[in-house]
Amino acid sequence: MSRAISQEILESMDTGVLAFDRTGIMVFANAAACQILHVSPEDLVGSSLTGSEGILARCHEMIQQVLRTFEPSIQTWQERQMYLDLSVKPWKEREGAILFIQDKTAQRGLLERDKQFIANASHELRTPITIIQGFAETLCSYPKLSPGTVGDISEKIARTSKRLENLVQSLLTLSKIDHFSEEKLREVGLIEIAHHCKHLVLSSHPEARITIFGSPDLFIRADPQLLDLAVMNLLENAIKYSLSPANLRIEIHQRAQNALIEVRDQGIGIPAIDLPSIFDRFYKVDRQQSSGIKGVGLGLSIVKEIVKKHQGSVSVSSQVNVGSVFTISFPVVKKIV
Ligand code: ADP
Repeated sequence: MSRAISQEILESMDTGVLAFDRTGIMVFANAAACQILHVSPEDLVGSSLTGSEGILARCHEMIQQVLRTFEPSIQTWQERQMYLDLSVKPWKEREGAILFIQDKTAQRGLLERDKQFIANASHELRTPITIIQGFAETLCSYPKLSPGTVGDISEKIARTSKRLENLVQSLLTLSKIDHFSEEKLREVGLIEIAHHCKHLVLSSHPEARITIFGSPDLFIRADPQLLDLAVMNLLENAIKYSLSPANLRIEIHQRAQNALIEVRDQGIGIPAIDLPSIFDRFYKVDRQQSSGIKGVGLGLSIVKEIVKKHQGSVSVSSQVNVGSVFTISFPVVKKIV
């Protein structure tokens, strides 16, 4: 392989590569290495890294060790939010050493996110289980409780079990979205989805008033079941966080190359301070929870995941005691004119 080709390959790699000669002087640094280390090639090539600090000092130590022992060396480096895998191998041809740097920050971020998710899910599951256990033990320990008290306790057990079921259902849904398959995509008319969801929501909340406005000819490519689920979650929230009877409006329109579905309510609204976090998993607005509305904090994260899988986006604008507007936007497939 010609030298020019090898150089081109090295430059196009995501892995950082630094080569050192037998005296420990750096003779080559590829673009990825400079980017990961936030240093320009001029500052690296020709130096031995002696007297450097932080990650560069660690690289220097590893290089010196490999030049001395001619044994490979592998280490990890963690600083604030950055995780790097460092691997130094002897460079036989030049009696030098080559350092490979892999940036694992993104993978570690995902791992941390998963760990946090499992911790939050376990906590959320434990709370209703503890409540059910406590009430069930009371029923067993006090067989002579009045029928009224038994009725109250049974009702609380049933309500908490329902909450537990909703939570497990939401967790299963999140995992189902993770296994999203392109095979299920088909052209879907947004107005059809809106009418279908309105019908479903009215079957459990007949008192709600839902009006649909917008273009009957906007289509997107979507998994219809998941799209239904996203819109249903927005409608159910709009009802849950409005005084009964809720007054909702679904609007469908096109903006540039995007098809938009807006769900508007005249409910209790969301404080500005909470808006940036409401799409996070398990996030609940304190004020609403303490006023007795109990949610599991997963509905909007499900909406966000579904929309992301369809290359779309979701946004919200809201004013306390005035109402909220949730807008989901997807690339439009066709608009018949
Ligand atoms: P939850 O199961 O708690 O409703 P979500 O993820 O669906 O979880 O919503 C997160 C939080 O955002 C809710 O706890 C609620 O405080 C707030 N929220 C969501 N939708 C609305 C809405 N239409 N009006 C007011 N607050 C809302």
